[in-house]
Amino acid sequence: MFTPAKRLQHIKKSATRVLFDSAPPGSINLGLGEPDFPTPELIRREAIKVVEDGRIGYTTNAGIPQLRELIAAYHNGAQAPRFKPESVCVMTGAEEALFAVMMTILDPGDQALMPNPCYIAYPAIARIAGAEERFYSTPSSNEFSFDRDRFSAAVTDRTKLVVINSPSNPTSRVISREDLKFIADRLSQTNAYVLADEIYRDLYSGERPSTISEFYERTIIVSGLSKMLSMTGWRLGWAAGPEDVIRQVTVMRQYMSTCTSTVTQKAALVAFTDAARRETEAMRTELNRRGEVMAKAIDREVGLPYCRGEGAYYIMLDVSSFGQSMETAMSLLKHRVITVPGSAFGDEAEGFLRLSFSIEEHLIEEGIRRIATGLDASLNAQ
Ligand code: PMP
Repeated sequence: MFTPAKRLQHIKKSATRVLFDSAPPGSINLGLGEPDFPTPELIRREAIKVVEDGRIGYTTNAGIPQLRELIAAYHNGAQAPRFKPESVCVMTGAEEALFAVMMTILDPGDQALMPNPCYIAYPAIARIAGAEERFYSTPSSNEFSFDRDRFSAAVTDRTKLVVINSPSNPTSRVISREDLKFIADRLSQTNAYVLADEIYRDLYSGERPSTISEFYERTIIVSGLSKMLSMTGWRLGWAAGPEDVIRQVTVMRQYMSTCTSTVTQKAALVAFTDAARRETEAMRTELNRRGEVMAKAIDREVGLPYCRGEGAYYIMLDVSSFGQSMETAMSLLKHRVITVPGSAFGDEAEGFLRLSFSIEEHLIEEGIRRIATGLDASLNAQ
């Protein structure tokens, strides 16, 4: 029996994967973490040109200079230019960026502070880095809102890295500008770095979410094109932050995958044009509409409380009256609908199911109907 290195001994295949793998054929997937739109044509066409041109050698480790410049400009927005091309390292998806940034900053024994509930990669990577995971709850009793007191109390003098994820996976909640300022103030008395995962920042309803990088110098933003342009399979992400940190992140990534696919990087040069921004806008409008469809379907068919945030594409459905969320999700598989149990994201989300409305309207409607039927059946069996 193979024994993996100690750093991997407590890292398991995610509960979600186990669940997905046991779904019967014909299941409707409300567990999806990606938009179902095709990648916009202007990006696909550009990639075809790159392939036909044939010059597809390595790029520098940190990525094509022109692409780094565009990413820096994207983050500067209307602000005073803060990010330069040297502040950016292009990565193979935001996932690789998370890995490289955490491995670059965290030493064994350091504390990594992250939200509860949170995206499952954060605690897994922190553990691989040998760091101690600590959590600040965004309480389910308050619709998973950011909680200043809980955050403050969780920061210690050993906090080396603080993860902020707004809009959040799994809650879709956005942290307000005032709360981001509060976080920056609280951390200004420490040496902590902030990892701001902004992968969902362009998918919002209402106002575009603020970024903590405006208020806190030691911020490393992790983002990418996966969600905003429906490009999950292209693997284009990045880390953007202080130049001295990014230099080290680039050293780390050199030994991970050398550089991001050159085809993807060159195609991504058109991802920051006005035409591409319009594509994101169209997806955002459609996702907001689908969110509305799901909320109405839950009201009509299921009649349970739920939390719908201000960004991303997730609704947290409160099924606490049915027992453990993992068991509820498993029993819903019999009714051919895939959901993600809240417990996968931390104990604060136990009792909830994460439902994704990134799929087509008729599938959302049918998926919610199946949830209603499945929950009814389990009530009758009790
Ligand atoms: N961060 C969060 C919060 C995510 O939900 C995801 C994808 N599910 C990622 C990062 C990774 O994204 P990518 O496809 O760019 O690796």
